Amino acid sequence: MLDHPQFTQLRKNLHQHPELSHQERQTAQRILEVFEKFAADEVHTQLGGHGVAFVFNGKQPGPSTLIRCELDALPIQEQNTFAHRSVTDGVSHKCGHDGHMAIITALGATLATRRPVSGRVILCFQPAEETGAGAIDMVNDAKFNALKPDYAFALHNYPGLKLGSVAVRAGTFNCASRGIIIKLKGKTSHAAHPEDGVSPATAMCQIIEQLNQLPQQLAAQGVKDKLWVTVIHARLGEVAFGTAPGEAVVMATLRSETNQAMDTLVEMTQAFSRHYAEQAGLEIEFSFADVFQASVNSQEGCDRVVEACRNTSTEFTLMEEPMRWSEDFGQFTAVARQGAMFALGAGVDTPQLHNPDYDFADQLIPIGHDLFLDLIKQINHFE
Ligand SMILES: [Zn+2]
Ligand SMILES: [Zn+2]
Repeated sequence: MLDHPQFTQLRKNLHQHPELSHQERQTAQRILEVFEKFAADEVHTQLGGHGVAFVFNGKQPGPSTLIRCELDALPIQEQNTFAHRSVTDGVSHKCGHDGHMAIITALGATLATRRPVSGRVILCFQPAEETGAGAIDMVNDAKFNALKPDYAFALHNYPGLKLGSVAVRAGTFNCASRGIIIKLKGKTSHAAHPEDGVSPATAMCQIIEQLNQLPQQLAAQGVKDKLWVTVIHARLGEVAFGTAPGEAVVMATLRSETNQAMDTLVEMTQAFSRHYAEQAGLEIEFSFADVFQASVNSQEGCDRVVEACRNTSTEFTLMEEPMRWSEDFGQFTAVARQGAMFALGAGVDTPQLHNPDYDFADQLIPIGHDLFLDLIKQINHFE
């Protein structure tokens, strides 16, 4: 039986000491210290940054099952005043990665006393999930070759869904997304003589308008995948009434159900932006930020999560549509044969992820632990 208070304590402690993506040194160290007494058969460190992984071997050969959680927190000032509030100004665990770590640590405690019969279980603490860089860095790390999984699973706590219930689906679970930065360069001039300069004002407006219309346009062209475009920022020239602008920047977040639809979104955006820039005699430059691939669940992975819910009497729903938010877990399911990510309800009336008043619901620790343990039991078996 899981000693719940011990892991709630760990969760609160991790919450108090958050670290940003790519800087999770102390958090990884803390996890290594806690795992020392679990005597894993292998410990891997510095995976794609501060990533750590613990391997628990079975006696007989069999599949490798990887269970993932995340080490990083967010650049958000905590609004909560409870005793375990973040001690670091401007940084806090607002995605519940502290809770996910507590769940996987609890799983480590169980595997310490109870090895699987066959294959092996890999408990994986991934760095830099929030920037979309951690999973791909981990998977591409040469040290990860020895850890290549056959099955990969992860959960994300999910405010808005009934506390302790599961939502899952086969196919895309999290959408692909990426930030696109469009820089336009013309030539400034005296505001009294705008005809001497090359202003990016019109092209900037045309690009924004076209971005807003893009999803409808692609749907009309027969693209079936769901997609969304949100213009998040734009800037034109400087605040100087004597100067006609010479530069502009437009930033937008592109989102789609599939990686293929993302390629189409990017190509289209670049094509019409180039067109408007050329028309106005402007130079144009594109760059990208926060690139996330779609996270895709296999049918077997989804079926096994459903089976785990049945075996642990956990309520579940099969989602009709993917989650719109992105997750870099898709990197793991892409290298594994099978796998799934699922949502674990954090309660209906609770602050949303990434909100300054959010906190992880500790009741989810034993539920998450039991669901993962059942997945391991299905694949690697226990005596
Ligand atoms: Zn997040
Ligand atoms: Zn998260």
